[in-house]
Amino acid sequence: MKINTVLGSCDAADLGPTLVHEHLLTGMPGAYLDAADFNRKQEFANVCGAVEKVKQCGISTIIDPCPMELGRDPEFAAAISDRTGMRVIMSTGLYNDAMGIPTHFRMLDSDEIAELYVREITDGIGSTGIKAGLIKAANSGMPGFAGEKGITKVEEKVFRAAGRAQKATGVPILVHNSETAPFGREVLDILESEGVEPKRVMIGHSCGVGDMRYYFDILQRGAWLGFDRFGIEMVAPDKLRLASLIGLLGVGHDRIMLAHDTVACWLGRLGKGMRSMLKNSPNWKLTHISEDILPALRKAGVTEDAIDTLLVKNPRDYFAA
Ligand SMILES: [Zn+2]
Repeated sequence: MKINTVLGSCDAADLGPTLVHEHLLTGMPGAYLDAADFNRKQEFANVCGAVEKVKQCGISTIIDPCPMELGRDPEFAAAISDRTGMRVIMSTGLYNDAMGIPTHFRMLDSDEIAELYVREITDGIGSTGIKAGLIKAANSGMPGFAGEKGITKVEEKVFRAAGRAQKATGVPILVHNSETAPFGREVLDILESEGVEPKRVMIGHSCGVGDMRYYFDILQRGAWLGFDRFGIEMVAPDKLRLASLIGLLGVGHDRIMLAHDTVACWLGRLGKGMRSMLKNSPNWKLTHISEDILPALRKAGVTEDAIDTLLVKNPRDYFAA
């Protein structure tokens, strides 16, 4: 099956070293109302600079699973991809109850939401002609900001939409989940009840969870873990993320993919809470895995073969399945 990128399509074998969860441009719902000083030209140059740096580290593909209501901008991403040569894959899909899912979508049912997801994957996003390559799905808010609940009714409806669109199109699902109150198992229950195979699902934001029972349950069901928040020290220290990763690899569990969940460019002004998170997470940048995390893995005895599995083989198998 061909994979939709922002500049056309590719084969799974073409992906190469992949960061599975980064954002080129993001803004919380409503940010566009507060973006009077957004300088698109300047931001474009800044993002190109950051992407070029990580490309020089050997990364060849970035997955940008920006939910549709969080400032998702496929044309911005396509221009970055065109300028830098970085392959970029964008998603369809909505964010969580506490921080997303605008009223319009609360008034649609799962099938109606799934219809839009399928259209974005098969025909393109809006009138751009740029097709989504995977489906984002989400539960739980952000520690210190909003809603660390279980799976709410509206989230369940949206997860079912994601499951139905997955079945209709074959593209994989990427799940945002809380690191402090994770519900990956329950998300898998809902998706499996829609007929989705766990091997088509990545339970993201898992690296900060630090609970081996949780990891084993998800991996033994055949789903993938996203260790995709390296550098966000405010939520969980890298040492905890690394301890979990090295421990899992040490006992032969390697269905794991890597990223940082960085935001290269924010739409709208940032509040004090986000500014403090940025200040206290100096390594939250696109090159952190290449420059710091991979050397730490090597120092712990992780082989080049295992690193290749995390960065190249697993993203390929996740899409190819
Ligand atoms: Zn994200």
